[in-house]
Amino acid sequence: MNSQDYINREDKYGAHNYHPLPVVLERGEGPFVWDVEGKRYYDFLSAYSAVNQGHCHPAIISALTDQASKLTLTSRAFYNNVLGEYEEFITKFFGYDKVLPMNTGAEADETAIKLCRKWAYKKKGVKKDQAKIIVCENNFHGRTITIVSMSTDPEARKDYGPFTPGFITIPYNDLDALAEALKDPDVAGFLVEPIQGEAGVFVPDEGYLSKAAAMCKEKNVLFIADEVQTGIARTGKLLACDHEGVRPDILILGKALSGGVFPVSAVLADDDIMLVIKPGEHGSTFGGNPIAAKVAIAALTVVKEEKLAEKSEKLGKIFRDEFKSIKSDMIELVRGKGLLNAVVIKPKGDKTAWDVCVAMKDNGLIAKPTHGHIIRFAPPLTITEEQLREAMNIIKETFKKFE
Ligand SMILES: *Cc1c(COP(=O)(O)O)cnc(C)c1O
Repeated sequence: MNSQDYINREDKYGAHNYHPLPVVLERGEGPFVWDVEGKRYYDFLSAYSAVNQGHCHPAIISALTDQASKLTLTSRAFYNNVLGEYEEFITKFFGYDKVLPMNTGAEADETAIKLCRKWAYKKKGVKKDQAKIIVCENNFHGRTITIVSMSTDPEARKDYGPFTPGFITIPYNDLDALAEALKDPDVAGFLVEPIQGEAGVFVPDEGYLSKAAAMCKEKNVLFIADEVQTGIARTGKLLACDHEGVRPDILILGKALSGGVFPVSAVLADDDIMLVIKPGEHGSTFGGNPIAAKVAIAALTVVKEEKLAEKSEKLGKIFRDEFKSIKSDMIELVRGKGLLNAVVIKPKGDKTAWDVCVAMKDNGLIAKPTHGHIIRFAPPLTITEEQLREAMNIIKETFKKFE
């Protein structure tokens, strides 16, 4: 079978809810992936920043296989000997009293919403079923009905109603709008991405997060950070909130929490918030399973031992500097933090960001357009400076072809 055969088979038997770049991958190692014809690519998507630690990191894979041969799933109906070790590890790692383990990012976001609402009724004194959560335009928090209810993306919402009520939408990076929304006494939380990843890597003004967090605190409103994409060293700090010294009341993690090896997500909070949920009131069959627990410990250990936050900070600067030196009238602007960057593409004739991505793929580097005209560049953080410079050459050569 060649690439086209694999593509045809997916097309025939799989739902058409994605539109992949035409490349069929079969192996990965560090910053590289190989297709079924044996061609090597730099992976500049990193599975939407899930593979920050690089493909098939040996320490994470060995944690996975060791645990997989001992005990995979007990459910939370019983205790196991691994979950507590993970809970202690991750709470100390991020500095919170408690963790609630889930599997996907969307589930962790849902968990944070439930936690915030329950806190509103039990602690803040909001009247039954009146709690509201402030969210931002152009957010991305996942794909469940409640999460698309918070979305402003017509593609994500169309024909999926009726939607979940209880959300107030304000523009991102707008403190006046936040102040106005916070006047409502039923507001219980403000859910925000420290950098809007899916929307096209929108970095807010410096001071936005710290001021927003202070305004929430003053109104007894929980500051909830969705760091599913920005967390785990992607933006040059362990958490993107760390750039402004902000400690969220509720922290949502996913994606690179497992190094892309296994679906692992988590919600972290202190006791006064987390303990409002009592036994039986929330859960997940797979959440906090022994494999996930061991994999997440290994994945976070890699981030610390290999100093991935520092690397991301340093290499991100090189990336943006090098990109800005590329002379192409298709490059409108480059923005980002650490190794989470995006380039806004100005179409040239009928050539769009999609064509640039296809051409980069032909030259040995894969990335994916978002919203038609933006390309996100997010290699694994384990990439070396030399590899990054080689990858930049591929990008430069590609843009030359469009001149
Ligand atoms: C990817 C993402 C999610 C959803 O994660 P899934 O694992 O796909 O459910 C939520 N929030 C943000 C910021 C994300 O980037």
